[in-house]
Amino acid sequence: MPLDCRKFRNGDQYVSLLGYGIMRMPRAAEGSRIIDRDKGAELVDYALEHGVNYFDTAYNYHGCTSEEFTGWALSRHRRESFNLATKMPVWMLNSREEMEAVFEEQLRKCRTEYFDFYLIHNFSSKNLEKEERLGVYEFLRQKKREGRIRRLGFSMHDTPAVLESVVKKYDWDFAQLQINYMDWEGLDAKSQYELLASRGIPVIVMEPVRGGALAAGLCGESQAIFREADPGRSVASWAIRFAASLPGVLVVLSGMSDMEQLRDNIATLSPLRPLDEREYGVIARALDAYRKSAPIPCTACRYCMDCPSGVDIPRLFALYNRHHNKGRTVYLGIDYRVIGEGRQAHHCTRCERCVKLCPQGLDIPALLEKVRAFVAENALDDIELLHPEKGVRVIGGPPSAGS
Ligand code: SF4
Ligand code: SF4
Repeated sequence: MPLDCRKFRNGDQYVSLLGYGIMRMPRAAEGSRIIDRDKGAELVDYALEHGVNYFDTAYNYHGCTSEEFTGWALSRHRRESFNLATKMPVWMLNSREEMEAVFEEQLRKCRTEYFDFYLIHNFSSKNLEKEERLGVYEFLRQKKREGRIRRLGFSMHDTPAVLESVVKKYDWDFAQLQINYMDWEGLDAKSQYELLASRGIPVIVMEPVRGGALAAGLCGESQAIFREADPGRSVASWAIRFAASLPGVLVVLSGMSDMEQLRDNIATLSPLRPLDEREYGVIARALDAYRKSAPIPCTACRYCMDCPSGVDIPRLFALYNRHHNKGRTVYLGIDYRVIGEGRQAHHCTRCERCVKLCPQGLDIPALLEKVRAFVAENALDDIELLHPEKGVRVIGGPPSAGS
């Protein structure tokens, strides 16, 4: 069976339900940020041959070389055979001139006259003011009028309130959000999805498998629950199907690093078999097993809520469990911000009201202090971290040789 496609807003454009996230392409060497061109090209070719027609890159991926690779790999195919998506790195810009230079550089690197999908990258409360000051949205609308952009959207990791303000303020063709069964309740992905669906804004899903956390990263018991429920399917396929089963989703992006992952995802969506009630129950059981095996064995029952100080106890514990063994990362900072400032761990007054309500007997105030200290030590600022390494490039500079 062919790979499933979805219509863009009931028009005549079909987009493959599986999208290729270039961000996790295989690297040339351990520790290198450069893509292995031969292996990468083989993956791109196989994906296209099997119906994948959506490719997502960004200015800053792979030390700012991802667009060059993507442009080169796709230029070996007919332009009409794929949808190319890339993003404006607002946090790197200081002027309208730089924005123009970056956009022209992206077209050049991607070897294209236009972008099918173009996003404001990581549109969040941290760069709302800058976006307005530089007039990023208006600049991109102008590019759309000129035919350089076909569909204009944004990607976001922030609270539902920030998402709502952004979708009310501007007219969007689509939006890209982090949606997966772990974040569905845990990071408000559900309400964010529902907000976009209610406005008819197509959703591109990023991180459906949470960078592998919902595959090999699950505990043994969770994996066993999935394997027993469907021995013929991979653990990752449950996460892909969870995202793809949402009717408002246009594309499920997956950052596939090897042929095994690519083949598995294609098989999962050729065609999509939407999850049924029994299968949602399987996911709930696997999540429950994961939570119980985690360093903070919070089951997310929410008996301890609501905290009079506004602290979102189960979400903070879920965040710690997801990140406790990952070292210093930008994603920890992003996830902490998504919880919302008023609900973060430092608001705990140690009143102990919640302690007697917890059936797991957790020392909640002490654990919240642990979460607070962990975040303070390990959360990197996404604006700074997404910035490329010094010396990699100069805005508006030519693509590097060999592409
Ligand atoms: S101890 Fe902290 S988290 Fe628990 S109810 Fe009191 S303020 Fe809220
Ligand atoms: S009551 Fe205990 S187990 Fe339940 S959500 Fe609160 S901290 Fe977690």
